[in-house]
Amino acid sequence: MRVLNDANQQSGASRNGKAAASRDQRGTAAEGFDYLIVGAGFAGSVMAERLAAQYGQRVLIVDRRPHIGGNAYDEHNSDGVLIHRYGPHIFHTNAQRVVDYLSRFTEWRPYRHRVLASVDGMLVPMPINLTTLNLLYSLNLSPEQAEAFLAARAEPVSEIRTSEDVVVNKVGRELYEKFFRCYTRKQWGIDPSDLDRSVTARVPIRTTTEDSYFNDVFQCMPREGYTRMFEKMLSHPNIEVKLGTDYKEVRKRVNFGKLIYTGPIDEYFDHCLGKLPYRSLIFRHETLDQEFFQSVAVVNYPSESVRHTRITEYKHLTGQQHRKTSITYEYPNDEGDPYYPIPRPANAALFKRYQALAEFHPEVTFAGRLGSYRYYNMDQVVAQALSTVERIAEKEGMNQVA
Ligand code: FAD
Ligand code: UDP
Repeated sequence: MRVLNDANQQSGASRNGKAAASRDQRGTAAEGFDYLIVGAGFAGSVMAERLAAQYGQRVLIVDRRPHIGGNAYDEHNSDGVLIHRYGPHIFHTNAQRVVDYLSRFTEWRPYRHRVLASVDGMLVPMPINLTTLNLLYSLNLSPEQAEAFLAARAEPVSEIRTSEDVVVNKVGRELYEKFFRCYTRKQWGIDPSDLDRSVTARVPIRTTTEDSYFNDVFQCMPREGYTRMFEKMLSHPNIEVKLGTDYKEVRKRVNFGKLIYTGPIDEYFDHCLGKLPYRSLIFRHETLDQEFFQSVAVVNYPSESVRHTRITEYKHLTGQQHRKTSITYEYPNDEGDPYYPIPRPANAALFKRYQALAEFHPEVTFAGRLGSYRYYNMDQVVAQALSTVERIAEKEGMNQVA
């Protein structure tokens, strides 16, 4: 991997994905590349690695940010605490193929994600489970009684379309208001009744004491962090990485055959059909002179009384021992980097129109969370990237070199 950083050509820090920045400043624009990949997040990096290592393609991967890893980027802050610059990223999947693939580049630290929610002046497990109900209502229900308790409150909805329907149908309006309505309004800037059902359906409702946030069989953190994993993924000699570089600047300067674009699809087409809405976040990072701040990695704040949605404390995720601790508050926002495609029918319809436009541009492949306008988790992006490369290889008749 050769890493060139337009934003900071001399930087050679090893923990931020710029390790090789000063090693080789020659650049290879004149030599040409088989592929230009826009975006060095999961989507772009996995495709770069596969095209280079499996099919011997020469790849230039660019990112407008000064680092690799996309939103999964992690770094040691000035106090030496490993943090996630773009909020908490917990790896979880049921796809063995994805685990096998990523395990080539990282070892794993077993980690089960547990979340508490601050409700009615208490910290209770989220997803709602038996413990949550017993604490909230000062009860001592068994799992069967908890099922009956929720069934008595549930308001059956005949056709479940929205994020409100999903929750109200299972637990009724009171718990919906306490845990979901306001959190969702803060997070998305719209009411759950205007949001696709898939959004709140991500969070299970349980009547046992199971308190894992995710149901997936594989839940782990990359042992040395995400950035280290990306560095290994992009270390193939056929891959050149150019950071601090926007696609629009590089496209005329570089010879390349095909394009893979993992940025926002509407931006690629200069928003010619209108802007696809995205939700952004402001991250407030703090380091505290104490060993721990809260008892779990994430505490959610579903009430209207504070503007942040959650606070993350990284040492629970990473297992790092340190006398200080770092935390991040997340404040949802309309403006800023596009972190979340907003799943609702009008947006899906606009995306379909961009997709139809993309069919007239076979020279470019769109992928990733922004290129596909899908609320994908990391494992889904990796799975999509692996399949996309297989599809490209078949279409182009590429031979495997490894
Ligand atoms: P990205 O990581 O967004 O990468 C795209 C890259 O393209 C960016 O670095 C961007 O700078 C670059 N780019 C865009 N346009 C251009 C351009 N014109 N020129 C140059 N570069 C460009 N998933 C999980 O599985 N578990 C979690 O716990 C989890 N937590 C999350 C928490 C937050 C706050 C957020 C926002 C997401 C979370 N995710 C989580 C989702 C995860 O971040 C994504 O699934 C994954 O990172 C998407 O990878 P990607 O490569 O598609 O996109
Ligand atoms: N959600 C909520 N209250 C919570 C947690 C989640 O209302 O305490 C809803 C909210 O709409 C959120 C969605 O469920 O956006 C999905 O939650 P998840 O934790 O998966 O969101 P992410 O980690 O992707 O931000």
